[in-house]
Amino acid sequence: MSFVSHVECTICGARHDAKRLLTVCEKCGQMLAVRYDLERVKASVTKDGLRQRAPGMYRFRELTPVDDAEERVTLGEGGTPLLELPRLASRFGIRKLWAKDDGQNPTGSFKARGLGMAITRARTLGAKGFVIPSAGNAGGAAAVYAARCGLPCIVIVPRGTPSAAVAEAQIAGARVFTIEGSIATAGRVVAKVSPQLGWFDLSTLKEPYRLEGKKTIGLELAEQLEWRMPDILLYPTGGGTGLVGIPKGYEELRAMGWLSGQLPRLFAVQAEGCAPVVKAFAAGAETTTAWENPTTHAAGLRVPSPFAGRQMLRLLRETRGGALAVGDQAIQEAQRLIARTEGIWTAPESAALVAALEMLRDRGEAPRDAEIMLIFTGAGLKYEPPALGKPTDLAGTEEEILAQVRRTVGA
Ligand SMILES: *Cc1c(COP(=O)(O)O)cnc(C)c1O
Ligand SMILES: [Zn+2]
Repeated sequence: MSFVSHVECTICGARHDAKRLLTVCEKCGQMLAVRYDLERVKASVTKDGLRQRAPGMYRFRELTPVDDAEERVTLGEGGTPLLELPRLASRFGIRKLWAKDDGQNPTGSFKARGLGMAITRARTLGAKGFVIPSAGNAGGAAAVYAARCGLPCIVIVPRGTPSAAVAEAQIAGARVFTIEGSIATAGRVVAKVSPQLGWFDLSTLKEPYRLEGKKTIGLELAEQLEWRMPDILLYPTGGGTGLVGIPKGYEELRAMGWLSGQLPRLFAVQAEGCAPVVKAFAAGAETTTAWENPTTHAAGLRVPSPFAGRQMLRLLRETRGGALAVGDQAIQEAQRLIARTEGIWTAPESAALVAALEMLRDRGEAPRDAEIMLIFTGAGLKYEPPALGKPTDLAGTEEEILAQVRRTVGA
C-alpha cells in the first residue's frame, strides 16, 4: 500500500498511472509530479506518532511514493541536522540563521535523497540499468544506489568534473564517460543511449521520483522547526529539484493542516558564470533560455538549460522571492568564512548561499528579524580544496621544533 493517488503533469495536468515506469508527461513532454491522497495520510499519522519513528528519508513514509512492502535501496539518507549559525548570523546582523546540512548524507551530497528514491522506484517498476548525465554528485549517487541493488549504471559527465565524484562512480562499478561541453551535452547523449540499451534515464526531473526524495528535505525542515516555516529560504540552483521539492513538501503538510502561514520567500542562487534562472527572472520571462558557455567551479550550478525552468520561475514569483548570481571569488571566500566561523566545510554550491545572503542584506531584503534558512547541499570534502597555503613543515631537534611551533602561533 502507498498513499499515492496518481502522477500528474505540472503543466497540462494530464493524469498518469503510478504503477508504470514513468518519465515525462505523455501529452506535453513536461515534468511530472506525484500526488497523494492527503486526507488518508492525515487519518493515518499524527505528529506524536511521527516523533516515535526512526530518523531518515522514509520517516514520513506516507508522504513518499514507496509501497509498504517495497524494498528500499538505501544507505541511510536523510535525517540530517538543522544547524543554527549564530556567529554568521551576528556577522550579517540577522537574528535567526540556519543551515540544513545535507552534506552529511551518504555520498556527501543531497543527491542521495533523490537518487535513492528514484532508483528504489525504478527498480521495483522493472528498470534493468541506469544512464545519467551529471555535473558530478548525481552521477556518484546514481552509481552508488545502482551498486546497492546490483544493477548496472552509465554516468556521463563534462570534462573537468570534480575528481572525487568521478571516483565515487567508478569505484561503485559504474561506466563513467567524460564529454566536452556541459551537463546539457551529456544529457543529449543519454537521451540517445537510454532507449538503445533499454536502461532507464535518470536525468534531473525527467522521472517523477527524484523530486519526492528531495521533497523530504522540506518534510524534515517542517518537523525540525516545530511545524513552522522560515521567512526566507535560499537554495543553490542547478536543475532545481530541491527548489521545487522543498515547497512541495511544505504544501502537502499545509494541505493536511500540519503547517500554517505562507511559504517562505524562495531565492534561487546561481553562479555568475551560469545563471539562466537569474537572467529569466530579471527579464520577467516564463521560462529559461540556454546559457552559453557555462563556467563556474561550483559544478552543481553548471546547468545551462534546466528542464524545470518554468516551474522554478513560477515558484520564485508566487512566493515573492527572487534569484541572485554570485561570483566564484565570492563563493570561495564564503566557503572559508563558513568553515572558520561555524566549522562547516560545505560545498562551493552551498557556500554561494552565504555570498548571496550578503547581497540580500545589502539590498535590505533580509531584515534583522527575518528567519533565514540555507540549504547546504554537499560536503566540501568532495571538491578540490581551495588554495589554503602550505602547512608549516617542522624539522630539526625537539627544541627547534618547539620554537618553530611557538613562533608560528605567536605564543
Ligand atoms: C546538484 C547539486 C546542486 C544543485 O541542485 P539542483 O537540485 O540540481 O538544483 C547544488 N549543490 C550540490 C552540492 C549539488 O550536487
Ligand atoms: Zn503535460
